[in-house]
Amino acid sequence: MLSAERRFLMELAENLVGEEGRKVVSIIAERGEITDEELAKILQKPTNEVRILLHRLFESRILKYRRERDEKIGWYVYFWRLTDESAETIYTQRKRKVLEKLKKRLNYERQNTFYMCVNRDIPRLTFDEAFNNMFKCPVCGAILEPYDNTAIIKILEKTIDTISNSSS
Ligand SMILES: [Zn+2]
Repeated sequence: MLSAERRFLMELAENLVGEEGRKVVSIIAERGEITDEELAKILQKPTNEVRILLHRLFESRILKYRRERDEKIGWYVYFWRLTDESAETIYTQRKRKVLEKLKKRLNYERQNTFYMCVNRDIPRLTFDEAFNNMFKCPVCGAILEPYDNTAIIKILEKTIDTISNSSS
C-alpha cells in the first residue's frame, strides 16, 4: 500500500475513534495481520475494548478480517488486516453516508413543525408531542410556542451543498 494511502487511513481512524485508531492502523500495517488478542496485548487494553475499536474501524471500511475456527477452544479467531480499497473509494463511501444522514435530517426538519417552551427548559417538541401535551410544557407547565427551524434548514442545505460539490 502506498504510504499516502496509509497516512489517509491513519488520519481517518484517528478521526473516528481517536489516537488509539491511528495506533491500530499503524500496528496492523506493520504486522500485515493480527488477532484481537495479539492487538490487545500490544495496546495493553482489555480484549473486549479492542474488539469494539476493531468493529468500528471495520464498519468504516478501514479494516477487513478473515476468521478461522479454532478447534481447540471451539470458537472463531478473527484475523484483522487493512482494507485493500483505495483511499478514494473509502472517501467517496464516507461522503455518501454523511450526505444520506444530512438529507434524512433535512427532510425531518422540513416535514415537521416544532414547538418550544418559553422557559427553554426542554428540547423542542414536534407538533404531535406538543399536541399530546395540550401545548403546555411537560416540565414547567408554561405554554409552548412555535419554534422556527428555518436557520437549521438553511445550515443543512448549505452543508449538503458544500459536501456534494467537494472534490472526488
Ligand atoms: Zn417549560
